[in-house]
Amino acid sequence: MRRIRIALIAHDRMKPQMIKFVRKHVDLLSQMELVTTGTTGKQIEDNTGLNVERMLSGPYGGDQQIGAKIANGQIDFVVFLRDPLTAQPHEPDISALLRLCDVHNIPVATNEKTAELLLEALARELEIL
Ligand code: PGA
Repeated sequence: MRRIRIALIAHDRMKPQMIKFVRKHVDLLSQMELVTTGTTGKQIEDNTGLNVERMLSGPYGGDQQIGAKIANGQIDFVVFLRDPLTAQPHEPDISALLRLCDVHNIPVATNEKTAELLLEALARELEIL
């Protein structure tokens, strides 16, 4: 069976939460292919020991690169921990990525609790939990 491909993205204020999420689910996530934006991925690699495929940093096009993968059918699930309180300079890219998830019917979690519920559901579906 092919491995599930998950995109992980977190805005700066949400990165500690992303690390916490990845640590908590490291056994499950280590069985999946992880694609990340630049800084999120670097922090995940440094703090959890997992290997990820790193795109550019979000403001430099990383969100768009992940969007392209979604459009190409190369992503099964997106965890995008957005900062709801801080305006981001690349807001159009973020909206575009979320829109592509809806266009292609890809599950996307924008907060940690949803990410957890969806990850567990996905794993159950594939009988790896
Ligand atoms: P970063 O990008 O992981 O490189 O910080 C995330 C984003 O801002 O979309």
